[in-house]
Amino acid sequence: MEKVIYVTKPLMPKMDRYVDELKKIWNAGWLTNNGPEYMEFQKKLEELFGSKIELYVNGHMALDIAIKALELPKGGEVITTPYTFASTTHALVMNGLTPVFCDIKEDYTLDEEKIEPLITDKTVAILPVHVYGCICNVEKIDEIAKKHCLKVIYDAAHAFAIKKNGRSVAEFGDISMFSLHATKVFNSIEGGILSYHDEKYAKELRNLRNFGIANEESVTSVGLNAKMNEFAAAMGICNLELLEEAIAVRKQIVESYLAALDGMKGIKTLNYQAFEEKQIEYNYAYMPVEIDENTAGYTRDDLYRFLQTKKIVARKYFYPLVTDYECYKERFDSSLTPAARQISRRILTLPIAASMTEKEVERCCRALQEMAGRVRHEG
Ligand SMILES: *Cc1c(COP(=O)(O)O)cnc(C)c1O
Repeated sequence: MEKVIYVTKPLMPKMDRYVDELKKIWNAGWLTNNGPEYMEFQKKLEELFGSKIELYVNGHMALDIAIKALELPKGGEVITTPYTFASTTHALVMNGLTPVFCDIKEDYTLDEEKIEPLITDKTVAILPVHVYGCICNVEKIDEIAKKHCLKVIYDAAHAFAIKKNGRSVAEFGDISMFSLHATKVFNSIEGGILSYHDEKYAKELRNLRNFGIANEESVTSVGLNAKMNEFAAAMGICNLELLEEAIAVRKQIVESYLAALDGMKGIKTLNYQAFEEKQIEYNYAYMPVEIDENTAGYTRDDLYRFLQTKKIVARKYFYPLVTDYECYKERFDSSLTPAARQISRRILTLPIAASMTEKEVERCCRALQEMAGRVRHEG
């Protein structure tokens, strides 16, 4: 029996390696609240990112805390994208902010040309997403933010370890959030990072994740409990040792896919050449393909279902658009972001994981070619 190939598999160290870290936890008798594992993981990440960071229980709570730390006034408008995971929009709405949706470009990131027309006297911030690790036009967004006195928070959940012109993606905006969820390119089981460079945010970013407790006798803000525990930090430390190799393997998998897709009609992939031209060190976090049914002869959903018959589980990230969710569709209008809407109907992300075997990659590639072959024979 062939095994199911899921859209991804978590990066995991050898169990013995993790047990080494567990022994340290047992020796220290310290399970959470900035213990030795936390401190070590934080230090290693600061070296990797070249910026200040704080760690959290998950990416979503980290984003929530970033919004709170920036003290964006309730009722303020935040320009953001509908082409993202639920987390980005929920974090704004839960904090009493109003998302204002801006359309996206071919590379799935916020269309910087469409930001300024959306700015009103209520606009307080911009929350763009580096979708699939495609880096937003950070220079232009920075320029717009400065001109209009807006804060910029990047949802960099997909962008772990990416560099642009030798600069870490963590340097952009006021604060960036990275997710260390099990399904991401790099994980600490669950976890989140906030990177920032202005020291003035440090205190709130730390206090808010621990009930707003500044010290034993003083609680200075209305905080949450969003601390990263020692077991998560230990997993992060172990997985960091595997990061470089994991990204190299992912790159190979992408190359296999590209070779298999070469000559197949109606399929668009990421523009990997543009990454090179823009001197981006990419992380190969996802393998998105866009199916243009008019040229391909089959729809995204046809391919999705066909892959399922082959026990290959691709995922429609990001479909539906956030603005079409049941909880939002009365309030927002996805026809205002037509490019995002069209892409969301065409997108499919194919399986990719550092632990995928060559055989599994071959199975996926063959299934894609079979789909194209079926169309040729029928047509
Ligand atoms: C995964 C993800 C998040 C949330 O991160 P968690 O660590 O799962 O809480 C936020 N935004 C985007 C775009 C994501 O993909």
